Amino acid sequence: MGQQPIQVIGGGLAGTEAAWQIAQAGWPVVLHEMRDLEQGSVAGQRQSGQGTSPAHHTDQLAELVCSNSFGALASDRAAGLLHAELRLLGSIILAKADHHQVPAGGALAVDRAVFSQDLTQTLAAHPLIELRRGEVPALPREGIVVLATGPLTSAALAESLHRLTGQEYLSFFDAASPIVVGDSINREIAFLASRYDRGAAAISIAP
Ligand SMILES: Cc1cc2nc3c(=O)[nH]c(=O)nc-3n(C[C@H](O)[C@H](O)[C@H](O)COP(=O)(O)OP(=O)(O)OC[C@H]3O[C@@H](n4cnc5c(N)ncnc54)[C@H](O)[C@@H]3O)c2cc1C
Repeated sequence: MGQQPIQVIGGGLAGTEAAWQIAQAGWPVVLHEMRDLEQGSVAGQRQSGQGTSPAHHTDQLAELVCSNSFGALASDRAAGLLHAELRLLGSIILAKADHHQVPAGGALAVDRAVFSQDLTQTLAAHPLIELRRGEVPALPREGIVVLATGPLTSAALAESLHRLTGQEYLSFFDAASPIVVGDSINREIAFLASRYDRGAAAISIAP
């Protein structure tokens, strides 16, 4: 009898890493991600109103919805120490973050577009990972399930969790900072400086 795949619901940072680790351990995985440009289920692309995300803008895995920073680089800081531990554990998120790093003072920051594209291609190419597009509207009752739908869990799944647990909803409030296109900045009246005066000043130019 073949191995029953583990279901990972949510292709954000957590679900992407979980799917990768499970597959690397030799177990088949189905990674469910509801964001799908063809179905219009990302912000600004809505058609059906089903399974939409109010903050994501692409259908790529591990999309960074706001800051492109993973926090401090230095390993004597909490975030930097966590990075070091994740590298030792073979984290695919950290490997791709290191590979697509952009200058950001003392922080580990990435080119968000190529970071997510690379992760999507890498997971799609893994023989033990099946990337399945579409909303999972209710918690599966069978098999092993990893729930990684993050703070913007779809309404239907949140309702399913509510029915299962009887718990009131948790509320999540946040805002996405605006992204300014580098070409739109008038360099005659603006200047470059690094965050916290650490490292060289830099600007990320979108391809
Ligand atoms: C507006 C906003 C701004 C934020 N800014 C920051 C920031 O600057 N820095 C920071 O560290 N964190 C920020 N966060 C928090 C951020 O969401 C988390 O750090 C990070 O994305 C969490 O990763 P995750 O994998 O748990 O969730 P996510 O990255 O949100 O991934 C969850 C995935 O599950 C999918 N999904 C949801 N429901 C379903 C379903 N039913 N079926 C299938 N797929 C589903 C979603 O489409 C999504 O791709 C912000 C969050 C929001 C909403």
